[in-house]
Amino acid sequence: MQVTRGQIIARGLANRCPNCGGRTLFKAGTLFELDRACRDCGLKIEKDEGFFLGAMAINYGVTCFGLLAPVVILWYLEVLSGRMAIGLAGALALLAPLALYRSSRSWQLMLYYYFLPQHLPANRRELSGLEDENV
Ligand SMILES: [Zn+2]
Repeated sequence: MQVTRGQIIARGLANRCPNCGGRTLFKAGTLFELDRACRDCGLKIEKDEGFFLGAMAINYGVTCFGLLAPVVILWYLEVLSGRMAIGLAGALALLAPLALYRSSRSWQLMLYYYFLPQHLPANRRELSGLEDENV
């Protein structure tokens, strides 16, 4: 069965395997240790070195622009006091990257397979099946 881009996005946002939808991205019982491959379908999760630099960029971007920028804007609009804004920004700068760690890894895989869905094993099988019918 072919995996659609909508399924890839839904699975990515739910921190699930983009190929089979299983909750298998991280090793069982660990918070931050990524599994090398999906336990259910065998999708290679650990790609080449540097693949997950994109996840770090996503994590950084969401932390800065999604969380810290609104604090600065609220401080600028005088909704928050300076001390409150510094405290909140400091807490967010420390805690948000940890909280977003798992999701940013999943979002990196989601973006990769959104633009290259033919690289998913489920979609490759579908394509190879079509090729066999044409022969
Ligand atoms: Zn899988």
